[in-house]
Amino acid sequence: MQALITLLPGDGIGPEVISEAHAVLQTVAQIFQHDFLFAEHAIGGSAIDAHKNPLPDETLQACLASDAVLLGAVGGPAWDDPRAALRPEQGLLRLRKEMQVFANLRPIHVYPGLRHASPLREERLEKVDILIVRELTGGLYFGTPRLQERIDGERRAVDTLEYSESEIRRVVSLALRLAQERRKHVTSVDKANVLETSRLWRQVAAEVARDFPEVRLENQLVDSAAMRLIVAPGEFDVLVTENMFGDILSDAASTLSGSLGLLPSAALGEGKRGLYEPVHGSAPDIAGEGIANPIGAVLSGAMLLRHSLALEEAALAVERAVSMTLEANILTPDLGGEASTREVGERIRSFLERTVLPEGQTKENA
Ligand code: NAD
Repeated sequence: MQALITLLPGDGIGPEVISEAHAVLQTVAQIFQHDFLFAEHAIGGSAIDAHKNPLPDETLQACLASDAVLLGAVGGPAWDDPRAALRPEQGLLRLRKEMQVFANLRPIHVYPGLRHASPLREERLEKVDILIVRELTGGLYFGTPRLQERIDGERRAVDTLEYSESEIRRVVSLALRLAQERRKHVTSVDKANVLETSRLWRQVAAEVARDFPEVRLENQLVDSAAMRLIVAPGEFDVLVTENMFGDILSDAASTLSGSLGLLPSAALGEGKRGLYEPVHGSAPDIAGEGIANPIGAVLSGAMLLRHSLALEEAALAVERAVSMTLEANILTPDLGGEASTREVGERIRSFLERTVLPEGQTKENA
């Protein structure tokens, strides 16, 4: 297959981890005989420095013309002034808007050899394999009116929580579709005992679920879902929820895996094109040292193969190569090891080459 992939390394450790993810995708192209064309563009703080724009037009047009976008991270102390007119995150927010992505996918997987790195007791981490699907464009973060005012000498502030039926339908339907390929269980998280938007969310979720009879839909209140993520995280398969609940729950769940550096994410819309990025930021404290964990970026590349290019075998091969690298104890310092970003990337590529035959079959299947 042919695919055009835009790389946006960004700031801080972004270029270091994207360089490894790029090399892994090149290895995938070689061993599975695909034709991937890569184009690199500027975003964030480095784009402000070079083009006085956190999302130069050339970058945006390249992203809109490609099959998928792989981003490192944006931001850093050089661009942190909150009063600055141009800020790195404006580039990312605008890119998400222009690409019309409405769902953020965050898989949380706990690798057996890394259970000790998690804050939870090891027995609670068995079978943890969660996919959090967070609505990305609606809810409290975008609703209007949104204001601060002074009435009778007292300050008052308003945010608006609003969801339309179609906004709920598209994200829940994506979650149900993704669950079909997994353990066929969706937990829809809301606050339907209090919020009107949650009551609508629950009704629409039930309607959408009728089209997916093989998937079990369960509703859970956000407060009890938060407790369950800590006491029994292995019970979740796909968790779908609105923007703010998803923001909070996905960050809480990300601590389960042991390091932020391991976690990938995807932002998807109606079509196949998606925006893929590791969950972590630009980590200015370790930027330039060559010790950033590239696995979040590499696994974001695996998600790109799965969701934008429909190359499930290749995605699984990358995920397997990452597991083998971790099992071989090739760990960056965030996981207690001494390996460099480059060494981890090289080892992932060498496991990929060793486990996949030239025709793209895995050695186990051959
Ligand atoms: P961060 O994720 O960059 O770093 C938090 C901690 O985790 C740091 O100690 C860092 O060294 C460590 N860490 C992160 N990724 C790692 C990796 N791959 N390997 C090893 N260690 C890793 O979060 P922060 O410090 O709050 O933010 C730093 C900058 O990144 C800020 O400017 C922030 O605005 C930006 N940021 C960008 C994004 C994004 O681009 N999507 C997301 C979050 C933060």
